[in-house]
Amino acid sequence: MSPRKPGYVVPETLAEASEFLREHAEDARIIAGGTDVLVQLRRRGRAGGEHPRWLVDISRIPGLAGVSTDSGTISIGAMTTHEEIARSPIIRKGGPLLAEACTSVGSPQIRERGTIGGNIMNASPAADTIPALAALSARARIADPTGTRDILVTDIFEGPYETSAQHGEILLDVYFDALPPSCGCAFVKLGRREALAIARLSVAVVLERDADGRVARAAIAPGACLPMPARVESAEEMLVGKVPDEAAVDAAAREVAEEMVRRTGVRWSTDYKKPVVEAVTKRAIWRALGVNAE
Ligand SMILES: Cc1cc2nc3c(=O)[nH]c(=O)nc-3n(C[C@H](O)[C@H](O)[C@H](O)COP(=O)(O)OP(=O)(O)OC[C@H]3O[C@@H](n4cnc5c(N)ncnc54)[C@H](O)[C@@H]3O)c2cc1C
Repeated sequence: MSPRKPGYVVPETLAEASEFLREHAEDARIIAGGTDVLVQLRRRGRAGGEHPRWLVDISRIPGLAGVSTDSGTISIGAMTTHEEIARSPIIRKGGPLLAEACTSVGSPQIRERGTIGGNIMNASPAADTIPALAALSARARIADPTGTRDILVTDIFEGPYETSAQHGEILLDVYFDALPPSCGCAFVKLGRREALAIARLSVAVVLERDADGRVARAAIAPGACLPMPARVESAEEMLVGKVPDEAAVDAAAREVAEEMVRRTGVRWSTDYKKPVVEAVTKRAIWRALGVNAE
């Protein structure tokens, strides 16, 4: 017997969607672009698993899509696609590493459908926007039927494919301070294949330098190699206050790789991953410093 197909509801307001999701709890699942959800449903169906009873399509809710800027803060609605973010002049100016991350997602078709909200809330360790958002110290607004809460994007995650979102909660948008011109940034991804590559490994870096060329602020966030999305503060501290030279960059990159091993333990993949994390981090730091170290 093939599994029952889920019912499909398309609420017109946030309140309606949120109420429905709370009422149907385990039986309902949000669908945005569907690029993760539909793949997961198909996989579960093939394995003989149960589908949720309801899919709640949030694409008609007004105000959930688009990029805007106000007083130096950039906001991105949860329903904004990777393609829109990659092309947005606001993002290209105030958070170009996020545009780079979105450009690296899947294929043109996936970028046209897949949303930033889905990328975050699917909570895949390999999600490309998450390291960029972590390096930007981005925050998220999440709504439920009673109001909204505000949370650092990195604090949403409780484990691979697990978030702190409760039934009835919908991610509204993410926001961060636009990077000033004194900031350099980079997103470097090493995929298994050039096209359609889900990141095996990525690193996002933001570096701000003062008038003397010293690093005033550093953010380094690796993707797909830590148990939970996070910045590596011990590596960032190795750059702050220094005019970055080869020794400082090498030390910070090595620290990211060592921190990965401390957080994940030694695994079968460590012999491969450790030097690769170090090399990709080094490349991302140099690129953020305006040096292309390919
Ligand atoms: C062939 C292929 C290649 C891919 N390549 C990449 C890649 O290179 N990099 C990468 O990062 N990803 C990749 N992906 C994964 C996917 O495309 C992205 O994660 C995408 O951003 C998901 O967005 P969506 O709108 O399609 O999410 P959906 O599939 O609609 O939803 C994903 C999850 O998020 C939840 N959700 C969605 N929106 C909200 C919201 N506003 N509030 C609360 N919960 C919400 C849903 O309930 C679901 O659990 C790929 C997928 C495919 C099929």
